[in-house]
Amino acid sequence: MILDQYQRPLRNLRLSVTDRCNLRCSYCMPEPEYVWLPREDILHFEEMEQLVDVFLDLGVDKVRLTGGEPLLRRDLPKLVAALAARPRIQDLAMTTNGVLLAQQARALADAGLHRVTMSLDTLRPDRFRDLTRTDDLEKVLAGIAAAAPLFRGLKIDTVVIRGTNDDELAELIEFGRQYGAEVRFIEYMDVGGATHWSMERVVSRAQMLQELSRHYGAITPVVEASSAPADRYRLPDGTTFGIISATTAPFCHACDRSRLTADGFWYLCLYAQRGIDLRGALRGGAGADQIAGLIRAAWRDRRDRGAEDRLAARNRAPLIPVDTLRRDPHLEMHTRGG
Ligand code: SAM
Ligand code: SF4
Ligand code: SF4
Repeated sequence: MILDQYQRPLRNLRLSVTDRCNLRCSYCMPEPEYVWLPREDILHFEEMEQLVDVFLDLGVDKVRLTGGEPLLRRDLPKLVAALAARPRIQDLAMTTNGVLLAQQARALADAGLHRVTMSLDTLRPDRFRDLTRTDDLEKVLAGIAAAAPLFRGLKIDTVVIRGTNDDELAELIEFGRQYGAEVRFIEYMDVGGATHWSMERVVSRAQMLQELSRHYGAITPVVEASSAPADRYRLPDGTTFGIISATTAPFCHACDRSRLTADGFWYLCLYAQRGIDLRGALRGGAGADQIAGLIRAAWRDRRDRGAEDRLAARNRAPLIPVDTLRRDPHLEMHTRGG
């Protein structure tokens, strides 16, 4: 196992399979236009598998497919089947907006995908339109209905934004309950791409708990030892939910995650300004040992605690200006994979 400068292991790889997306969530892609990664730079599945194998050799045992929207990547079940055949991956998951999930859930389950996390911020069609600039709520709900019986432990992730969906927390918990899905509320983060972010629009974990206690009565924390980012809580009737307090109480001290973009750049932190070009190494003829050397050296030097650093910043405003994002789309959340 490789440890970084704060004794955090390299265990968790988020693999972005495309930077394209079929939604335009206001907290992730609010701009009218985007600069995309060049098509010829996007890794083929065989290249992704080669890089994943190097990470597995170094101790990674959790892989999460993400994007952009991962279901836009053609033939995704083929990649899932190839990864599912690697027994060292103990947890093979995917995060999706669900628009295309009803069509693909069966093929993904048959290919061996273990778990699915769905992003869903509202149950109201008008809000969904304002939040995503599409009318696809019905498709997302159909996706959840299709996925729930096929995947154990479905999760629903909701970014909570003041004045947008912060009055829907209980409704979302009730909705999740119908499908046996645990809902996790995510604090609005000032990541690259969140160009409309402001601290006033962040609903903190404490405020969410206050709101939910008003509705449900006493809420108790679920005590567990884990490197998962969500703090879990139990309602009086036993229903559990999570809160990811990534903005007001970040979990950098236990962060074992890194991210590989669809064009093969590896990032040690969601907030990192620079990545390591593994595609260049791979296509330049570097062998698995050489790539492992690059990864090992970078992880051992890792000191990233991006969200904690942001917490210490005064007068917080969006992290990266739009023109800088256009010059380097790797700085975008939808390229990093969230
Ligand atoms: N498109 C897929 C989806 O939405 O599930 C996968 C990629 S998306 C970038 C991954 C996650 O990042 C989503 O759950 C999304 O809600 C979250 N996310 C994006 N921007 C965010 C922000 N500014 N603050 C908090 N979470 C954010
Ligand atoms: Fe929304 Fe995910 Fe697309 Fe970002 S990548 S716009 S969070 S669906
Ligand atoms: Fe990990 Fe960086 Fe997120 Fe902190 S900000 S939890 S170090 S990815």
